[in-house]
Amino acid sequence: MRGDAGARVARPRILIVGGGAAGTLVALHLIRTAGRRSTGCDIVLLDPVDLLGRGVAFGTTDEQHLLNVPASGMSALPEDPGHFVAWRGRQDPDRPSEPWDFAPRRHFARYLHETLTDALAKAAGQVALRQVRAQAVAVRRAGAGAVVVTDDGREVTGDALVIATGLPVAGHAWAPEGLSSSAFFVPDPWAPGALEVIRRDRCGPGSVLLVGTGLTMVDVALSLAIPPARSPATGGDRVLHAISRSGRLPRSHARAPKLAAIPDVSSWGPTLSELRERVGRHFGDVAAASGDWRPAMDGLRVQVSTLWSRLSEPDRITFLAQDAGRWNVLRHRMPRSSAMTLNQLRSTGQLRLSRGSVADAQPLARGGLRVGLSDGTHHDVGWVVNCTGPQTDIRLLGNPLLDDLLRPGNGAAFARVATGGMGVQTANGRLINSYGNSDAPLWTIGALRRGELWESTAIPEIRSQALVVATAVLDAIAPLSRRLADGRIVSGHHPIARPRDPLGLPLSTTAEAATSFNAGLERVMRLQSGAEELLREATGIDPDFALAHAALAMLGHEAGAPADVAASLAAARRAVAKRGDDRERSLVEVIGRRVTDTRRIGAQALKAHISDHPRDVLAVSAAVPTIAFSGVTDLQQEAWELVEGLAPAYGDHWWYISLLAFTRQEQSRFEEAGLLAESALACEPSSGHAVHAQTHVMYETGQHEEGRVWLDHWITETGRSAGYRAHFAWHAALHELALGDLEAVRRRYQAHLAPPAVTGVRALIDSAALLWRWQMDVGSSERGATPPPVHPVIGAIEPALLRAPQTPFIALYAAIALAASNDRAGLEVLRRHCQSSPDGSMRVTVVAVCEALIAVCEQRWEAAVQLLEDVLPGLVQIAGSAAQREVFQDTLIFALVKAGRSARAGDLLDSRLIRRPSPLDQRRRHTLRGLQSPTP
Ligand SMILES: Cc1cc2nc3c(=O)[nH]c(=O)nc-3n(C[C@H](O)[C@H](O)[C@H](O)COP(=O)(O)OP(=O)(O)OC[C@H]3O[C@@H](n4cnc5c(N)ncnc54)[C@H](O)[C@@H]3O)c2cc1C
Repeated sequence: MRGDAGARVARPRILIVGGGAAGTLVALHLIRTAGRRSTGCDIVLLDPVDLLGRGVAFGTTDEQHLLNVPASGMSALPEDPGHFVAWRGRQDPDRPSEPWDFAPRRHFARYLHETLTDALAKAAGQVALRQVRAQAVAVRRAGAGAVVVTDDGREVTGDALVIATGLPVAGHAWAPEGLSSSAFFVPDPWAPGALEVIRRDRCGPGSVLLVGTGLTMVDVALSLAIPPARSPATGGDRVLHAISRSGRLPRSHARAPKLAAIPDVSSWGPTLSELRERVGRHFGDVAAASGDWRPAMDGLRVQVSTLWSRLSEPDRITFLAQDAGRWNVLRHRMPRSSAMTLNQLRSTGQLRLSRGSVADAQPLARGGLRVGLSDGTHHDVGWVVNCTGPQTDIRLLGNPLLDDLLRPGNGAAFARVATGGMGVQTANGRLINSYGNSDAPLWTIGALRRGELWESTAIPEIRSQALVVATAVLDAIAPLSRRLADGRIVSGHHPIARPRDPLGLPLSTTAEAATSFNAGLERVMRLQSGAEELLREATGIDPDFALAHAALAMLGHEAGAPADVAASLAAARRAVAKRGDDRERSLVEVIGRRVTDTRRIGAQALKAHISDHPRDVLAVSAAVPTIAFSGVTDLQQEAWELVEGLAPAYGDHWWYISLLAFTRQEQSRFEEAGLLAESALACEPSSGHAVHAQTHVMYETGQHEEGRVWLDHWITETGRSAGYRAHFAWHAALHELALGDLEAVRRRYQAHLAPPAVTGVRALIDSAALLWRWQMDVGSSERGATPPPVHPVIGAIEPALLRAPQTPFIALYAAIALAASNDRAGLEVLRRHCQSSPDGSMRVTVVAVCEALIAVCEQRWEAAVQLLEDVLPGLVQIAGSAAQREVFQDTLIFALVKAGRSARAGDLLDSRLIRRPSPLDQRRRHTLRGLQSPTP
């Protein structure tokens, strides 16, 4: 027997069985992750195929076989959702590569192959990959590792094994004997050359029966009706009859992308009947609000594994029997172009669709078959093609490896089947054996996890699983070395001495206090409210837990959370003197410095801390907040560099992807920002940073109606426990303002932005600024829509925030609030306060803004124009996002109009319209043209 069993494995070796898309993606992520961790390893991929990354789906050579997922969903790298789109752009620079393109499937195979080759080249010397061209037929344990036996008798040893065998066989158990044994039956349309025979063979009746009406039928119909140009045979004149029990075609994708409406399923019950009712309501609500059911389906897909995990086994089986067909029709959609071609074929009678199943089949003398259908009719056809899709029950696949995994040997079988035989049971991808243990070094991915996840066959799910499995495998067989508290570095496995935070950083506290702390930290990461209570709970459980006290002080100081900053900081200092590691000591120190001097010494200390501890999410949250407050720098470029520099520390973590999405929209890279935000939300539907980023994208790209509907859905669903609800309401109100629906703005203001719902700093930044924006809306008063009074808002803001703010950002919005209430004296007090500030931006920029607003209040329009024209460029750094800063430009436009300089106001509006579409600015432009045109 040939093989390398027993050979000494010098460095970790990982075996992957299956070189389709899933196995290739596992290899890719192993290479990249091992490269990042500087872990040397060898990968052995076992598959008899010639080329990796193809499999049934992407091995097709027919250009008409398109991906059924838009290009934006097909990136191999979860942290870079635009990767495939960019790759396509590089292939053909003359043709725009759009995220919403549906590329030919074979392009994806090339993309995977090149991405793998690139990653291997980058990891040269550290990671090696080789293919063993053989079928795996059996597995056994060898020490801590595994041995794979191949059909040609080799034995390949590894420290871990990933099984990625997909679902290659087309099942045709439904076919009666007369059909399955006929030469005119094509049991597997994906087999090489299978459809070529039909095109070439002209004997027998001309029509073809396609059994199944899903995506496989779509492929087959396109291939048979429109033969590839290079095919010598015609065949395009054949009539195609497609039948299935439902007679339903898959639905098509929308004309343009629509954001997923992710439902909050936390209160959805665990029974199928309740699920049906909730899903129906979700679809109804989303379709009513957005005019389309697809966002409901896409949002549901994000939550489907959670819902599936709650269902009992009998309910899952009932779902498979009664609901899965409908689910598949709505979920597995075809590209619009394919749908249009099919419609055309149907209209010319070349494709006929009906309900039914095959009852029997008899051979015809001249070739072909007479097929009897369940409705009693008979049809003479040249060929019958099985389009019913893959066999999903792994017990019926006849794959020797899977049979071996399920067979008990001397003890437990390596695997046990999941629901309906749709794969095996796992603990996060690691196989659970028939005794219920998951200690063997065996993992799986993709279709073999359908029974436990339901949705687990498409690239969006597979690529994330591939990364998780790659990381888990390396953690198990080549764990990273760790530094102990006493400074020693230890490698290999060891008990975890201290609890960890969500990013894996150790916490000097008890497990119980760490649980509360982590729940609080996760709320901070998701931008949810209520973090302080959980942190306080942690300090109650362990009063010497320095980081929990420090976090409270930080949230109080940085984000205005209800916390006694001085007391928490003092408690943190006392606690860290007793117990704490380098990072904890450093963070307490940094917070002390931020409290003393947020912008200079504090900012420097925070940056230095992050450079030593990049995975400290509390510190990063304070340094680059996406909503509100100061951060560490006024320079956008510097903030962007900080975020980009953190990439190696976070990889594809949803929290980091959310921050990156926000950065990308600030850089006006809206497409990337949108993709990143979507990708983060698919992992964590409550991510406030991602929603915030997406909201800016919608605003800056002029998608006001869709943006409002999407944001409203999020606010009422997953965003129910969001912090900064006022800010999200402000964003929704901006959409309404842009749409010219001032009554909707008024309703939203009264419900979500007026005191007492909103007070303090958010009332300043969101509520008052919105009312001022409305006051500055050229033409709104002419339309008879005066804004609500501003004095209740002023009354809900602490006087110190209005008259003696600490940062230029707050000072600017204090000036706006005072102007909105026509408080000239207040503006003068604020101006004097800023003039005496040690901060240059306060002394120069904010003082000028105060003077400009005093001029506006006094209707000295020319003076206001002059001051605002001078100061506007400097506001980029201190006045927040582009959408927020517009309020200052609105003020300038208003002053220009009042000063009789409509032409200049028009120019400004034009330059804004070039930057971003806006129906509001267009309306204003229209009004100004009226003002400019000479009176007859
Ligand atoms: C027609 C079709 C179109 C699709 N289109 C899309 C699409 O557009 N977008 C999308 O996201 N998804 C699509 N899918 C879903 C698709 O299944 C997955 O995206 C992906 O291709 C699955 O890859 P896989 O590696 O798990 O399986 P496969 O592609 O089936 O690959 C499995 C590999 O394992 C090998 N293998 C099996 N058993 C053994 C063994 N015992 N020993 C050694 N090797 C073995 C096989 O030779 C094969 O190469 C499509 C699926 C089909 C069938």
